[in-house]
Amino acid sequence: MTVTVRFAPSPTGHIHIGNIRPALYNWLFARKAGGTFILRFDDTDVQRSKQEYADSIERDLRWIGIAPDRIERQSERLGQYDAAADLLKKKGLLYPCYETPDELERRRSRQRALGRPPVYDRAGYRQSAEERAAFEAEGRKPHWRFLLPNFESDPLETRRTDVAWDDLCRGDQTIDLASMSDPVLIREDGTYLYTFTSIVDDVDMGVTHVIRGEDHVSNTGVQIAIFQALEASPPVFGHHNLLTTRDGEGLSKRKGALSIGSLREDGLEPMAVASLAVLTGTSQAVEPVATMDDLVDKFDLSSVSRSSAKFDPEELKSLNARLVHDLPFEEVKDRLESLGIEPSSQFWDTVRGNCETVGDASRYWQAIKGPVEGKVEEEDRDFIAKARSFLPEGEMTEESWGQWTGALKAETGRKGRGLFMPLRRVLTGMDHGPDMKALLPLIGRQNTLARLP
Ligand code: GLU
Repeated sequence: MTVTVRFAPSPTGHIHIGNIRPALYNWLFARKAGGTFILRFDDTDVQRSKQEYADSIERDLRWIGIAPDRIERQSERLGQYDAAADLLKKKGLLYPCYETPDELERRRSRQRALGRPPVYDRAGYRQSAEERAAFEAEGRKPHWRFLLPNFESDPLETRRTDVAWDDLCRGDQTIDLASMSDPVLIREDGTYLYTFTSIVDDVDMGVTHVIRGEDHVSNTGVQIAIFQALEASPPVFGHHNLLTTRDGEGLSKRKGALSIGSLREDGLEPMAVASLAVLTGTSQAVEPVATMDDLVDKFDLSSVSRSSAKFDPEELKSLNARLVHDLPFEEVKDRLESLGIEPSSQFWDTVRGNCETVGDASRYWQAIKGPVEGKVEEEDRDFIAKARSFLPEGEMTEESWGQWTGALKAETGRKGRGLFMPLRRVLTGMDHGPDMKALLPLIGRQNTLARLP
């Protein structure tokens, strides 16, 4: 059977680094197995789902390097959900309930006060046809619950019913269906809940592995029962830990700054974001991985830890810098060009070690081409005035800096920082930057002279 996985976001907002984690896990899993990756929009909530969010999610996935093999939209599959719901109704496994949210809440409070778990008591299941008709006559509309298989013959006498699965990340898992309420699958307004539509889709689309966040673990027991009620065998499940910032702050609050769109605008490399999103919270070191193929080789779902996956947003910057330092010229050539730089490998090799992002190259290009606002401290004025007359003859080469500073050292007795820093400041306007020995030939004789007063 071909491995088939899906990433199923609701297009109700932009995705952030925490959401890209399950997307990448599914993508890497599919690539490793030569399988299929489906991007499936959970867009049955018509009020909150927006096309602009779907477009932004697709764009973010492509930016990070995920090219879905198939794109599906739940809003286009309502007929399939109706058919599956009819099947469950025919089997007596979906029953109408007429309680209002207030009535349900009051009942749960009573249960809690009595020290009982707030599990739905199947009051709706017990109602007669007359009682239901009376509710309908009042103008009430039913929501529909799935009858969990947690009883022997009488649904009103539940008994412990363990549903077990071998989780790809968490190992053996068990959920007792008697501890769960019958889930609502259809709302009063006739719309379906994600837990149901997602199963119908997984069956129809031949999904073999469901990889998602551990916030879905408790749904899984219920979902396995629904797969079985639909006469389908459940897929393999894997629930990974969720990404949080180091202080334990959930990502929802920081979504803005850590949205994929804003990380892209900050000039981060997709592979820096992917490396952090995939490797944090695993037994593997969080390090920059240069290509998606390398990440496919490295990726291992069983290395995901049981504890939370905490990261410091600052780590992204350092991972990014390490990736940028190793980027070969051919890979950045076009990007340099689009920054208005005349790209050459000599330039890139000179500046890349000082770039945290590729965009930083612009500053150094500016320092080479000018105009530069050179800085001269009062105490360096005489020294700088001398520097002009000691500049080696001819075009600047790799040797020029050594010859120039050697001569100035002999003449003035200056050394170290006192020798180099005034020259760097006057030529580049900066206190830090690439090696002057490599920079000087790029600045060239003419610019150098023009910057020396
Ligand atoms: N739309 C659900 C979510 O984003 C999908 C969960 C799943 O993968 O089953 O949480």
